[in-house]
Amino acid sequence: MKVSFIGAGSIAEAMIGGILKKGVVKSGDIKVHNRTNKKRLAALEHRYGIQAAPTLEQLFDGPDVAVLAVKPKDVPGVLRSVQPLIAPGTLFISVAAGITIPFMENQLSLDIPIARAMPNTSAKVGQSATGIAFNAAATKTDRRRALEIFSAIGLTMVVEEEQLDALTGLSGSGPAYIYYIAEALQQSAAEIGLEAHAAKHLIIQTIIGAAEMLKTSNEPPKALRKAVTSPNGTTEAGIRILDERDVKQAFIDCVKAATKRSKELS
Ligand code: NAD
Repeated sequence: MKVSFIGAGSIAEAMIGGILKKGVVKSGDIKVHNRTNKKRLAALEHRYGIQAAPTLEQLFDGPDVAVLAVKPKDVPGVLRSVQPLIAPGTLFISVAAGITIPFMENQLSLDIPIARAMPNTSAKVGQSATGIAFNAAATKTDRRRALEIFSAIGLTMVVEEEQLDALTGLSGSGPAYIYYIAEALQQSAAEIGLEAHAAKHLIIQTIIGAAEMLKTSNEPPKALRKAVTSPNGTTEAGIRILDERDVKQAFIDCVKAATKRSKELS
């Protein structure tokens, strides 16, 4: 599989690193193009042994898959430039937030197989929770190729495009919600007199451990929580405060607000 990246920023590098590490694509079969910043392209070329394409014409010289990884505001211009270059049958994958499949079909062509994906920042460590939707022109091979690429940077769920705003509100912005909890726990550690270095590592391991339990146990989160909450014990004393302050509802409202904002930006 030959993959060309338009945009050489943070998410493009995470994807390049992931697909090379998992052996999905050979380094010689990856090309990358950036609008400016030759230094960045040279650095990626050096770090991963991939090919920098100075022009879009060179980038579109025979890829099976083209990945659009530029900021949403730059997408319309890029699509206009790409339209005359993209060969029928090239799978076009966009990770640009809020850029819809109908918009891309309109700019490129209805016949171009298109995937719209929403990874999250944990892609950088191969742990993204990614949602992906396809247009009608995407074949079985296109779907397999896209899933191979995104599975190299974490877990991927295929969804209908209408679900992508909700997915953005939940898992797209999700890492920040967990960072928020970590931030609160870190502040609490300072207030209860726990040494900062030890607290930091205890918090990280507590999050990893709880995530591993959620992943490996068949129990829903509520059952796991109840199982560690003894009557009149320490956990119950803590959770009572969260319930009194309606923290669960605050999280639900948080995800709803992020979803609403994603819809507004589309
Ligand atoms: P970034 O700013 O790190 O990278 C964008 C790159 O695009 C830059 O290198 C820029 O030079 C290049 N670029 C801009 N205009 C161009 C053009 N006309 N031709 C070629 N290259 C051009 O941004 P990022 O964080 O990598 O995000 C890129 C896209 O990925 C965004 O649309 C964002 O919504 C989406 N996304 C990112 C993440 C993430 O974790 N970073 C997660 C989900 C979705």
